[in-house]
Amino acid sequence: PRLLDDEEGGVVFLSSSLSSASSIGYGYASIEKQRQRLPVYKYRTAILYLVETHATTIIVGETGSGKTTQIPQYLKEAGWADGGRVIACTQPRRLAVQAVASRVAEEMGVKVGEEVGYTIRFEDFTNKVRHLSSYLSIFGVIIFVMHAGISSLAVQDLTAIKFLTDGVLLREMMDDPLLTKYSVIMVDEAHERSISTDILLGLLKKIQRCRSDLRLIISSATIEAKSMSAFFHARKGRRGLEGVELVPRLEPAILSVEGRGFNVQIHYVEEPVSDYVQAAVSTVLLIHDKEPPGDILVFLTGQDDIDATIQLLTEEARTSKKNSSGLIILPLYSGLSRAEQEQVFSPTPRGKRKVVISTNIAETSLTLEGIVYVVDSGFSKQRFYNPISDIENLVVAPISKASARQRAGRAGRVRPGKCYRWLYTEEYFVKEIPAEGIPEMQRSNLVSCVIQLKALGIDNILGFDWPASPPPEAMIRALEVLYSLGVLDDDAKLTSPTGFQVAEIPLSIWVSGRGAQKELDEAKLRFAAAEGDHVTFLNIYKGFLQSCKSSHWCHKNFINYHAMKKVIEIREQLRRIAQRIGIVMKSCESDMQVVRKAVTAGFFANACYSEAYSQSGMYKTVRGSQEVYIHPSSVLFRVNPKWVIYHSLVSTDRQYMRNVISIDPSWLLEVAPHFYQQHRLNPIH
Ligand code: ADP
Ligand code: MG
Repeated sequence: PRLLDDEEGGVVFLSSSLSSASSIGYGYASIEKQRQRLPVYKYRTAILYLVETHATTIIVGETGSGKTTQIPQYLKEAGWADGGRVIACTQPRRLAVQAVASRVAEEMGVKVGEEVGYTIRFEDFTNKVRHLSSYLSIFGVIIFVMHAGISSLAVQDLTAIKFLTDGVLLREMMDDPLLTKYSVIMVDEAHERSISTDILLGLLKKIQRCRSDLRLIISSATIEAKSMSAFFHARKGRRGLEGVELVPRLEPAILSVEGRGFNVQIHYVEEPVSDYVQAAVSTVLLIHDKEPPGDILVFLTGQDDIDATIQLLTEEARTSKKNSSGLIILPLYSGLSRAEQEQVFSPTPRGKRKVVISTNIAETSLTLEGIVYVVDSGFSKQRFYNPISDIENLVVAPISKASARQRAGRAGRVRPGKCYRWLYTEEYFVKEIPAEGIPEMQRSNLVSCVIQLKALGIDNILGFDWPASPPPEAMIRALEVLYSLGVLDDDAKLTSPTGFQVAEIPLSIWVSGRGAQKELDEAKLRFAAAEGDHVTFLNIYKGFLQSCKSSHWCHKNFINYHAMKKVIEIREQLRRIAQRIGIVMKSCESDMQVVRKAVTAGFFANACYSEAYSQSGMYKTVRGSQEVYIHPSSVLFRVNPKWVIYHSLVSTDRQYMRNVISIDPSWLLEVAPHFYQQHRLNPIH
């Protein structure tokens, strides 16, 4: 093609004055017409040419330009899924995986699970599962043993495009290190730089050395294309002979999709505000009162503050003198049910105004049509890890300028819009907010990252080719913990069988699983166990089973029914994995000491004690003598047993322990002698 003269270092810039995707009228244009109006459509030939001729193609384009939904379809149409091969597209977020897969299936006129499938942790909707479950119901459990053979045939027959989280793709590498079934892997939203994305990028670069037939697409709205290109280009060893063109070319191609967003006016507060939720609510009501039609998107940090804001907004809208009846208020965060997701994406009825209250999932992962006003808190929940104290915190911290710009851009898709940054002043934004975020790899606990790499046979972890190197202290801390858990041996290799078993389990025992803890407050006492929160959860689980998994029971007890259903699903999946890898399962009957010891075995590094006669509720961590307190949401709040183990820490004004269980300190020496000797601690007071 004439425009594809990539003389200038493999960079192709195509500019065009495309009408924005926003001109799509819902229900009017056919799906095919809608597809053709997306900015990315004009680049169809260019994209296919670059993918054909380059090992790696980096594609940058405004959110909503059609990268995620269109590019995999173009590849399929061009034959990249022929012969049983599969086109993969990864997303950092589970919700985005589901939403995008169902949109693409709809565009292709197929059902999810046929040509278009998705896999997220604990849910597999590729062709494989449909076959598997029908075989199961027909032939019974014996067929399960044969499923490996059957399902791989089935996948090769039908699934052509598969959406999955980057974590799931990493897990697939354990069975198939070269990912041979994939012809093209599109790493989408690469700017998010989650740990999984970074590990994946490093490993894909390695795979490219062995598979010249594999093509990579790295795509995102805001990616630093130059540095990403440099990462994929810098290779030790293998280079093309002078003057000889290698096909595919190893130097990445960069393509920038120009879509035209409309202007967005930014408004700041003049004085910093203190009541965050109240300020968000007032801003929304003010827009509703004063501004012409157009939907509102509010960015908050997590489910807690989203729920609080929705409650307050609903109340104030009801009691307000002005006409607020036209507001449709909806939450958007991972873990929403299908029906709730559909409401968010469905068009706003005439005469109404939709208010979507979202985490940063709506920043680039998902496109909402019809947004004209963005109300941005300027904050998000971020993980920070201190390898010296070995404490990982989930803190609410300011987002980067790049993110703030993305969020504002959400208002300019339909027509000129407005963005209200209601928590800080313009001066603060200009002076204090960092230009770019820090990759998660550089601010996290690396325990599960190390296990995954080890399981994939990457032994020299410190010498691994990372897109961003993690701090060596954090690596060393992770190796040390894994060694004391018996997951790594003296040569820092995975132990057999424990290490390999741990690596197979998708719910790493250190990663927080959100339980059904929310909305419990009033009913909590009914389930509360003196031993602590974990046993309380177990009581709830048992109660749920006794109620025959009734949603009415959940409602009555202020328990989140969807969360409980998830709990059941996860338990079932873990049971299947345990069975497959040969872990013998045994019920603890009603012996809660076994449960407490099991938690101790996994979380011994999180042990804390309260000083004798301390009335303040203050605890110290055994490891770093840090001051910590029991979180008010815990059943042990104010009970203050002498020795406890916590699951995670949150820091606000103080460090709070969440999900706490009381233990007997002698168990620490029993389950983790290495660890406690190694630190020369005498935990018994
Ligand atoms: P990108 O990945 O470039 O941000 P997408 O491929 O996700 O863009 O979206 C392209 C367009 O497809 C959007 O502008 C929107 O019009 C439409 N679209 C995407 N997902 C959905 C959905 N779930 N429901 C309705 N329309 C959607
Ligand atoms: Mg996308």
